[in-house]
Amino acid sequence: MIKNQTISFNTLGCRLNQSETAVIENTFVDRGYTIVDFQQPADVVVINTCTVTENGDADTRRLVNKINRLNPNAKIALIGCQAQIQKEKLATMNNVKWIIGNAAKMDLVSILEKEQEPENAKVIAPAFSRVSFRHPAAGIDHHHTRANLKIQDGCDFFCSFCEIPYARGRARSRVFEDILLEARALVAASHKEIVLTGINLGTYSDEKYHLLDVIKALMDIEGLLRVRISSIEPTTIPDDLIALMKTNKKLCRHLHIPLQSGSDKTLKVMKRKYTVAQYDEFIQKAFQKIPGICLGTDVIVGFPGESEEDFKFTYEYLRDSAVHYFHVFSYSERQMAKSQSLLGRVDNKIIQERSQKLRELSQRKRELFYRSQLNTIQDIIFEEENEGLWSGFSDNYLKITVKVDQNIKNESLPVVFKELQPAGKLRGDLI
Ligand code: SF4
Repeated sequence: MIKNQTISFNTLGCRLNQSETAVIENTFVDRGYTIVDFQQPADVVVINTCTVTENGDADTRRLVNKINRLNPNAKIALIGCQAQIQKEKLATMNNVKWIIGNAAKMDLVSILEKEQEPENAKVIAPAFSRVSFRHPAAGIDHHHTRANLKIQDGCDFFCSFCEIPYARGRARSRVFEDILLEARALVAASHKEIVLTGINLGTYSDEKYHLLDVIKALMDIEGLLRVRISSIEPTTIPDDLIALMKTNKKLCRHLHIPLQSGSDKTLKVMKRKYTVAQYDEFIQKAFQKIPGICLGTDVIVGFPGESEEDFKFTYEYLRDSAVHYFHVFSYSERQMAKSQSLLGRVDNKIIQERSQKLRELSQRKRELFYRSQLNTIQDIIFEEENEGLWSGFSDNYLKITVKVDQNIKNESLPVVFKELQPAGKLRGDLI
């Protein structure tokens, strides 16, 4: 790739991918390249891929076809999780010139400078290291108000439905000082909220530092108003997290803790490390100790062997527990996941019906939570405007809109929550 060429990026999947794309984009800017919007023609197009479900795989295919249709001269680089584990398949796609796995993708700029237009797709997917990693670079995200900050990668848990340990390698942590460097750069670039991202955040460990040390150090940064934890495995939550959340307003009252199933039998086959009762013990504690906390979860529907009774346990647990909303995933067979060989496939139609029931339940519970917050006054960091209505989030993850004439993007302002509208949206007024 040569300096006067243009490059665009598209990110599929999780927050971690987004935070990595932001860092990669900045390495290109630092070297003098011009980044253009993904919709515009570019000499090189990068897709940071996801393979967590079949949909993630399909999205890559769809995007490559779209690029070939609209921009047939573009050279395509596929990087990330799908590039790591489906190299051969991706190499057959039109105009795909580079396939770069997770262990190499942060060096994309050097790779593209070295590997000028290979005739056949060039595959670079080295094995993962197990030691702490360095990203001295910052990922200034110019598109979003909340900044994602990567502190950890990979996972050692090997849940039976999950390919992540193969796509991203074993658990390793980002060097503590590099995290602080990037956090300070993000705050200097006007970000007021940082979202900690990683695959298994609670396992963060670099020398003597653990997750709570990272959070405490970030909370000392002047100008940073909020630190949010993106998602944390139930068995890895530090003991003092709730106490810290209670005493320090900078740590958002929001936890997303994947449950995956409300049936102990299914959890066991999934190789999860807890029972429903153990999960609930923490949820109860958080709910009772932190007024207004927002609790979310992930749940998989149709895992092999999931009977009507197993589903009923999941439904009833989520209905009765303190969890406020859930992301519902239909079980999707992954080529390297152990669950591939399990018997007891659940019919697709049943999966769709069960998923629908849970989505409706989640919507009802979210609305109940919203309703419980009416007439409270909370600080909102505003993100975007649409037809005179500005929307933003509270620390406990309530999205609210207010009618204001001036530009309040990225401002933190107190809002009184006035009304829950029929579409389940909160409306408030600045005070
Ligand atoms: S904890 Fe389980 S589901 Fe989460 S990344 Fe690790 S193996 Fe996958």
